[in-house]
Amino acid sequence: AFDFFPEINLSRAELLTKLSNNMSEKRFQHVQNVGIAAVKLAERWGYADVRKAELAGLLHDYAKEETDKTFILLIQKYQLDPDLYHWDNNVWHGMVGIYKIREDFGLTDSEILRAIEIHTVGSSDMTLLDKILYVADYIETGRNFDGVDFARTLAFEQDLNAAVAYETVRTVEFLAHKKLPIYPQTILTYNAFIKNLR
Ligand code: GDP
Ligand code: FE
Ligand code: FE
Repeated sequence: AFDFFPEINLSRAELLTKLSNNMSEKRFQHVQNVGIAAVKLAERWGYADVRKAELAGLLHDYAKEETDKTFILLIQKYQLDPDLYHWDNNVWHGMVGIYKIREDFGLTDSEILRAIEIHTVGSSDMTLLDKILYVADYIETGRNFDGVDFARTLAFEQDLNAAVAYETVRTVEFLAHKKLPIYPQTILTYNAFIKNLR
């Protein structure tokens, strides 16, 4: 395991303390599980900077328990796309959450920030690290839903792109079934990756 994360100039112990002070016990366990899953996927698919994969996992939901007001202020402060005002925490904690992470950790690594930015909605153009985080979030050992074992098999034994596609299909199905709005970038992710599942 990595004892120090130079990207944020913190030891593992310091980072874990900061995370646990900023989220529920359940979410703290989740982000540690995502870190572990991201390390495994990095090793499986040859992403060289395994430490960055773990750090992305540990930080990805850092902003999830911030208030709506905090996100609205960040959208204003950084003059982000005004369309973001029409969404909610589900979209904000990644797309806007990276600005909170930049402020609170001094993180400037653009690969990690990008992976965290799109960890909920994906992108039509994902790097290996982006895919690792997107999928690790879905299949970490604490997840328990219908289809999670299929997702794990795709992710570890078959095809990371197919795992991205499967996760996106299931998310789109879930949102449509609940009659929830679908963020346009989620549809772009679906269109870009669905061929990997056919
Ligand atoms: P978590 O933060 O570990 O719970 O996982 P995610 O960041 O992947 O997802 C957070 C929530 O956002 C979940 O409830 C998803 O169903 C929801 N979500 C994912 N994509 C979209 C989308 O396109 N639109 C909306 N409205 N919600 C989404
Ligand atoms: Fe999330
Ligand atoms: Fe998560």
